[in-house]
Parts: sequence; structure tokens; C-alpha cells
Amino acid sequence: MPGQPAFLCDAMLGGLARWLRAAGYSAWFDVHAADGELVRRALEQGRWLLTSDSGILERYAVSEGLVGCVFVPRGLSVLRQLAHVIAALKLPLRDCRCMDCDGELVETPLAEVVQHVPAKVKDVCTLFFRCRGCRKVYWRGTHWQSIRGRLRRAVELAAALADAGERPPS
Ligand SMILES: [Zn+2]
Repeated sequence: MPGQPAFLCDAMLGGLARWLRAAGYSAWFDVHAADGELVRRALEQGRWLLTSDSGILERYAVSEGLVGCVFVPRGLSVLRQLAHVIAALKLPLRDCRCMDCDGELVETPLAEVVQHVPAKVKDVCTLFFRCRGCRKVYWRGTHWQSIRGRLRRAVELAAALADAGERPPS
């Protein structure tokens, strides 16, 4: 994914990591990583650090701008967290990644995944995907439409944030 921003979320932002993946961005999340470890990984891997912990902003690599960091205010719903990040970095929606493992989804013929697809889905869906990482099978059914609907809502919220001049420092 050259040129695409990728993310590392702090322990409070696991839900946000999943939704960033749905929006098409690689997002890692480690509930056990200490602040210093998060900053070091973000620096090494060129990932944006997303945090609700103002202490991380004081870290040298962050305060000096060596690591890109977006502070996500506490108390926001996960959709508003996502809108905040979309607004801060002007992110377009991209093709979904696996919400569970961050893997890339690859379009796959139904015949190859048919044993994982419920009968009623086979009748109504034509596009199927498999995660390169955990092998989970996805299809463009009602659940997928609901996820895309929430993502579009986050983009609308982000546009409203930008219009209101509430753009966070990035
Ligand atoms: Zn996966």
C-alpha cells in the first residue's frame, strides 16, 4: 500500500481500528503495548499514531513531529472517532479490509468459498471476498451495506466537522 496512510491505535481505540479497516486503511491495535512501545512501532513502521492519551503527545518523537499523531478526544462514539480521523487527514473511503485481522480482501469466485456461505446468501449476492490473513469470507449483503452506510455517515460527520472549522491539529 505505498502512499496509503496506515495506523496504530492505542489501547482505548480498538473499535476505531476495526472501523478504519472497514474504511480501507491498515490499522493495528495492541491493548498490551505501553506508550513508549506504541511510539517506537509507529516510528519504525511509518504509521500514524491514534491516541486518546494526552501523555503520548509529550513523547519526544511525537512532540518533535517524527511520528504523525492524531489525538482523538475521549467520550466520542466510534463513528465520531472515525469522523474525527477522516477530517484530520482528509481520508477518502477505500475498499474494505478485514475488520477482524486487518488482512486484504480478495475477490473470490463463489465456487471456492461456497461451503462458508449460507444458502439464502448464495441466491442474492454475487460478489464474494476472502481475507488473505484469517481466510474469513465476506459478501456484499445486508451487513456489508449497513457497514458502508455507517462509513458514509462518518464521512458526512467529517465534512460537518471541517465546515465548522473544528479541525483538530494533525
Ligand atoms: Zn482477516
